[in-house]
Amino acid sequence: MVGAGLSGAVIGRRLAERGHNVTVVDARDHLAGNCHTARDPETGVLVHVYGPHIFHTDDAEVWDYVNGFETFLPYRNRVKATTGGAVYSLPINLHTINQFYGRTMRPDEARAFIEAQADRSITDPQTFEEQALRFVGPDLYEAFFKGYTQKQWGCHPSELPASILKRLPVRFNYDDNYFFHRFQGMPENGYTAMVGRILDHPRIAVHLNTRFERSQAGDYEHVFHSGPLDGYFDHALGRLGYRTLDFERFSAEGDWQGCAVMNYGEQSVPYTRITEHKHFAPWEEHAGTVCYREYARACEPGDIPYYPIRLVAEKELLSRYVARAAAEENVTFVGRLGTYRYLDMDVTIREALDTAESFLDRRDRGATMPPFVHAPL
Ligand code: UDP
Repeated sequence: MVGAGLSGAVIGRRLAERGHNVTVVDARDHLAGNCHTARDPETGVLVHVYGPHIFHTDDAEVWDYVNGFETFLPYRNRVKATTGGAVYSLPINLHTINQFYGRTMRPDEARAFIEAQADRSITDPQTFEEQALRFVGPDLYEAFFKGYTQKQWGCHPSELPASILKRLPVRFNYDDNYFFHRFQGMPENGYTAMVGRILDHPRIAVHLNTRFERSQAGDYEHVFHSGPLDGYFDHALGRLGYRTLDFERFSAEGDWQGCAVMNYGEQSVPYTRITEHKHFAPWEEHAGTVCYREYARACEPGDIPYYPIRLVAEKELLSRYVARAAAEENVTFVGRLGTYRYLDMDVTIREALDTAESFLDRRDRGATMPPFVHAPL
């Protein structure tokens, strides 16, 4: 397993349980990849080191799986947004609409009101901007999405796919739960503790601070690679675009912003959001508090990749890397970086479980593993 994140841990565990000896290597000095959590030394607050990760899923099997390794406590993600000198409720819901327009509309009135603002000439939205103009109209788009998205992705929303905005609901009721999944929660002791338990098996050896070289692939029966797809090939065809994040830490006493995540919609504010991590664990008590301002920028060589950008131009390069990947006999590319997709944690775990089953099934039948399980295009 190249990478000790969710993909490597979940696949490694299944294979180990079926009698395989598994070696996990990770270049970093900790488990859990970008969902790594650690206690802040000054305040004792459990911090999501690479930015907020809230576990939510509709997949009962995945929910049972994570609960088998860690206690998940009830948590509802309620995000706020500051824009135009006021604070609003997110995702856009009836409260946001009534606050924003200074109205007291009921659900059907708000629906009709927003529909009247929407650009109905857009029948099949392809871009982020078209999707926003079609479903919320120009005012809400400008206030909540345009500036934030330009900061987050470094390009105009007309260059981004509609799929990014489809992550966010628009609701004509007062439900301000950011996610609409049956199961949602926070691991009581953090994601790193959970991944540590998944990897705690006599047939699994973990080596941190250890880089994997492609030349080592032949030393193993099979390699599951959750690092960047282009990195595996030494970027021979060019670099796939990623956004990386810079975090600016500050601490204070008490409660600094009153919620876990505050988004900043305007472009004049250089950061996208501020996360106050103690609010992710309301069952803990801390006198101090620690917050991080989050800045997004282009990922340069040596930076940690976070978000695959997947612009149209990148898809062409991606398809050439996929062809290379398909020619690698004993390597399977998995996870967010290995398949170059914007994956949530639950989907990552679902795919890892399926990948492990597929591997075991094929091996039982003496068949070879298809090298690239999840077509990323
Ligand atoms: N977004 C936005 N304004 C917001 C929140 C989100 O424009 O206040 C857009 C932005 O383009 C972002 C996308 O919606 O990248 C998905 O948001 P999500 O909260 O899922 O992002 P994540 O937490 O994964 O960074």
